Amino acid sequence: MRDFAVRLATTLSILEKIATEFSPAVFASSLAAEDMVLTDLILRHKLNIDIFSLETGRLHKETLSMLDRIKETYEYEVTLYKPETEAVDNYVKQHGLNAFYDSVEMRKECCRIRKVEPLNRALSGKKAWITGQRRAQSATRNELAVQEDDVAHAMQKFNPLTDWSEEDVWHYIRSNNVPYNPLHDKGYPSIGCEPCTRAIQPGEDVRAGRWWWENPESKECGLHVVDGKLVRIKSI
Ligand code: SF4
Repeated sequence: MRDFAVRLATTLSILEKIATEFSPAVFASSLAAEDMVLTDLILRHKLNIDIFSLETGRLHKETLSMLDRIKETYEYEVTLYKPETEAVDNYVKQHGLNAFYDSVEMRKECCRIRKVEPLNRALSGKKAWITGQRRAQSATRNELAVQEDDVAHAMQKFNPLTDWSEEDVWHYIRSNNVPYNPLHDKGYPSIGCEPCTRAIQPGEDVRAGRWWWENPESKECGLHVVDGKLVRIKSI
């Protein structure tokens, strides 16, 4: 646990540095376990970092219930960014509500409308943004750095949990009574939109339940991808 204490202290000092040196900074929370760790650290230590979430219109009710849990526990209201109604309506009219199952292109277009465009709005005018990504989460995150030059958004991107293991995340949550999404207890280690997330079997990769019908290499939502490719991000 000594190593965990070092990782925790490092994460907190990264968050403190972001709050003081990169203001205005925002934390993009998916309301999943890793993001609840960062939410707890930011709110417990009253750091000057705003927390927002992308309300895609296709989230599980359990995920949405986390907004109330956060309000009750921390007296904090997460800012929600929603997709543009006209863009969603046009997609559904032209391709169908669940056209993302038809091809990677249709899936990326749905993610672009429901996640990427609202994310761009949320990041507008900010100096840095934070994610709860961890290196051990999947094949697409092997090279994840703590601080990255986010060329697409012209700002710094921080991943303060880069070196954390899944055990670290749950140790922190249980030790600090942090509220968490009940879907994690039903076989969902990684949670996205309801139609694009399924429970996984023991031994499967933690992100195997996300866009499970696609190849592992294409499994990013576009938030960390530009033009359909993983962004080559310069580690600083
Ligand atoms: S995860 Fe699925 S439903 Fe959500 S925005 Fe992407 S394709 Fe659409």
